[in-house]
Amino acid sequence: MHQHISPADSADVIVVGAGPAGSATAFHLAQAGLDVLLLEKSQFPREKVCGDGLTPRAVKQLVGMGIPLNAEDGWFPNKGLRIIGGGVRLELDWPDLAAYPGYGLMRSRRGFDEALARAAGKAGARLLEGVSVTGPVLDEATGRMTGVTARAGADGDGPPRTYQARVVVAADGNSSRLSLAMGLAKRDDRPLGVAVRTYFTSPRHDDDYLESWLELWDGDRLLPGYGWVFGAGDGTSNVGLGLLNTSAAFQHTDYRGLLHRWLAGMPAEWGLTEENRTEPVRGAALPMGFNRTPHYTRGLMLAGDAGGMVNPFNGEGIAYAMESGEIAARVITQALARPDRAGAERVLHGYPQALRDAYGGYYTLGRKFVGAIGHPWVMKVATRHGMPRPALMRFTLKLLANLTEPRGGDAADRVINALSRLTPAA
Ligand SMILES: Cc1cc2nc3c(=O)[nH]c(=O)nc-3n(C[C@H](O)[C@H](O)[C@H](O)COP(=O)(O)OP(=O)(O)OC[C@H]3O[C@@H](n4cnc5c(N)ncnc54)[C@H](O)[C@@H]3O)c2cc1C
Repeated sequence: MHQHISPADSADVIVVGAGPAGSATAFHLAQAGLDVLLLEKSQFPREKVCGDGLTPRAVKQLVGMGIPLNAEDGWFPNKGLRIIGGGVRLELDWPDLAAYPGYGLMRSRRGFDEALARAAGKAGARLLEGVSVTGPVLDEATGRMTGVTARAGADGDGPPRTYQARVVVAADGNSSRLSLAMGLAKRDDRPLGVAVRTYFTSPRHDDDYLESWLELWDGDRLLPGYGWVFGAGDGTSNVGLGLLNTSAAFQHTDYRGLLHRWLAGMPAEWGLTEENRTEPVRGAALPMGFNRTPHYTRGLMLAGDAGGMVNPFNGEGIAYAMESGEIAARVITQALARPDRAGAERVLHGYPQALRDAYGGYYTLGRKFVGAIGHPWVMKVATRHGMPRPALMRFTLKLLANLTEPRGGDAADRVINALSRLTPAA
């Protein structure tokens, strides 16, 4: 390399992107005593298109990062999921487990992502905001990443800089430019969702259940996806809908139009109307079921949406972004403690297997599920015949939200864990 690199520009690990995946990775690395640069192109607080719904899995991760979850800071708790479909309205409390807390939360990503990034900074990570990573720096002989190039400013129009590290983590979200630059494109044999959302001032803002509507109709066609009304507790509700790419309708769907038509059928007193809309309708993709692999190659590790970690059953991505960040940090910490490069590299190559152990079987099940509900008749049968059976729906909640006791547990826990173990992790 021709350029002189000052110590401020180098670290043990560079984490690109300070969303939930990047901040969790940086937090856990810093806690283990490593020197971490966390590079984020935007300045906090910033918006992120999301439903803002946090399940007990996500709460567990937040607790693990020591983040205070007080109402004064905008955290709004929920008790479970309300599912509406097939003419039935069912309230299912989050399961009572030793492995996960019994409540979920709502918090807008504006405050949520900043709280996580600040927690990473407090743990010792060096957070640089307003730094856009523009590409990898490669070792000419081996092709391995040794750092990244970047520019100041969210648009990347500031002066160029180079940062150097032993390992780089791509936590730059769904489009992951850094992964693309290393030749890691999205896999088109894996599910992808698209979702749109906005906010309304609504008397339903203090609803303490996350509400999902399973029946989304486009004319006479039942679509694979769901609509949601999540109360944020601050006078507004986050309202949106998401669809899976398994349906023939996926390419041609007018999501904003669909949201508009769906909301037109809602009770007037909920106030989900244009006059009460407080934000534009915005949409983004949900990369599911490991839709970008390998999760480690040539000095680059993928966490969160960059690695396609969204749960294909329910579209939840925040908990998986944070969990994969924690797993990545654990692997990197072990790798960098090895005295020799070859040993470190062997440990880093264990990351994809660690992810497969955590999610592989469950995500393969999820892909089958997604394939099945892409057929309108399966959705129809499931909502008509599944909904009226509360025990079956409680099982379904545990399956869809991936909330089971890892050991022991009740019959539902054991069936789901056994299915996940039996299904090959691909
Ligand atoms: C409409 C919608 C609703 C959703 N609802 C929910 C929900 O209710 N609950 C849930 O759990 N999940 C939900 N998800 C999924 C969830 O939003 C994602 O899975 C989650 O944000 C992934 O976190 P991440 O850290 O991997 O990526 P992101 O949150 O996308 O963070 C990536 C970060 O990297 C930064 N970045 C990008 N490129 C660069 C670069 N070149 N240089 C520096 N920084 C860069 C970005 O600015 C950003 O801060 C929803 C998604 C959508 C689209």
